[in-house]
Amino acid sequence: MAEFTMELNDEQKEVRDWLHGFAADVIRPAAAEWDEREETPWPVIQEAAKVGIYSLDFYAQQYFDATGLGIPMAMEELFWGDAGIALSIVGTGLAAVGVLANGTEEQIGTWIPQMYGDVNDVKVAAFCSSEPDAGSDVASMRTRAVYDEAKDEWVINGTKTWATNGGIANVHVVVAVVDPDLGSKGHASFIIPPDTPGLSQGQKFQKHGIRASHTAEVVLDDVRVPGSCLLGGKEKLDERLARAREKARKGGERVKNAAMATFEASRPAVGAMAVGTARAAYEVALDYAMTREQFGRPIIDNQGVAFQLADMRTQIDAARLLVWRASWMGVNGKPFTAAEGSMSKLFASETAKKVTAQAIQILGGNGYTREYPVERMHRDAAIYTIFEGTSEIQRLVIARTLSGMPIR
Ligand SMILES: Cc1cc2nc3c(=O)[nH]c(=O)nc-3n(C[C@H](O)[C@H](O)[C@H](O)COP(=O)(O)OP(=O)(O)OC[C@H]3O[C@@H](n4cnc5c(N)ncnc54)[C@H](O)[C@@H]3O)c2cc1C
Repeated sequence: MAEFTMELNDEQKEVRDWLHGFAADVIRPAAAEWDEREETPWPVIQEAAKVGIYSLDFYAQQYFDATGLGIPMAMEELFWGDAGIALSIVGTGLAAVGVLANGTEEQIGTWIPQMYGDVNDVKVAAFCSSEPDAGSDVASMRTRAVYDEAKDEWVINGTKTWATNGGIANVHVVVAVVDPDLGSKGHASFIIPPDTPGLSQGQKFQKHGIRASHTAEVVLDDVRVPGSCLLGGKEKLDERLARAREKARKGGERVKNAAMATFEASRPAVGAMAVGTARAAYEVALDYAMTREQFGRPIIDNQGVAFQLADMRTQIDAARLLVWRASWMGVNGKPFTAAEGSMSKLFASETAKKVTAQAIQILGGNGYTREYPVERMHRDAAIYTIFEGTSEIQRLVIARTLSGMPIR
């Protein structure tokens, strides 16, 4: 058992400083421009690829950091730079993790490199689960995948929405219903290879924040993919469905809603993104409060301002500690008996919303303009309480985990 320490080791500090340098020198200076353009910042993704930040290897290295702090540290620094650009850089990871978690070795080797492309021709990937009528309630998903045995192909029809990188991705990972009687247990994930006929981008959304990240509908119209595109393979799927049918027949286990299930290990990463945005806004506010003078003295001389900053910093540090705890638990296989992953995401995302709003207040009129970055950070922060499970869903998961009751 390692000795308890709150200190990062030398290697972690080196990675953190390297990421911080990239965030400060490349991401932050580009943030306002790409927010206004509302486009994917391809040149910045390419820069990230050149230095090795946009690659599976980088995320794998951080993921396998035995302390669990690799991923949260990376997320915090990149999102400190800018949330929209950072999401464009890490969004591919969502789809890559879907393949890593459920794919065969062959699928991992074939598809993940195509998700990232290479330095001279960077690509992105999309993970498509949400639908117009299936957000928090994943079990009501309608996109259907039907097996055509004669051709060993799957035929997929449906509409996905709010997909990060949807339609511009080289590779899409799509979740679809294979057995409608089994609720979310009857879902499976499919790779949709580049240029597959029948897949098209629907509406591209104009958003409140994270505007440098592309979000769009993905329409699947008689999309045919080879049997080899079913993640994990047919044999594994048939076994899983048979087990789920048996359980449903016995009525021994309620078929759960996947959105309600505890994605405890992945949620701290979103919490870390929120910590990055909150810290960025806090730093701007602190600097401003120490330099802006009114009534002949810096505004931080007023307790009303200074105490706000004290609260902001306290909440950010508390959020980071919750995120680190949950990440450490995830990597070390500790059971999430109090939904600690959801707790970290809930607290960090609510903190980011609150702290960025306080930052605007501290900057006064300047805070409200686009001359200063805090209004963008506040718009960006609102996403953290929505995606990867809304704050209400996190509370539901926590309450159910604590009580064991089917709270609605
Ligand atoms: C910018 C952006 C990027 C996204 N990226 C992706 C992506 O890459 N892939 C993907 O698959 N999805 C993505 N999403 C979708 C995202 O995960 C969903 O928006 C989210 O899960 C919420 O679903 P919903 O929007 O349908 O809200 P709804 O589920 O309709 O919820 C609406 C409101 O009702 C509340 N509510 C719902 N059910 C309950 C309940 N049981 N108890 C209490 N309150 C409840 C919610 O908390 C919320 O406040 C993205 C969304 C956005 C905005």
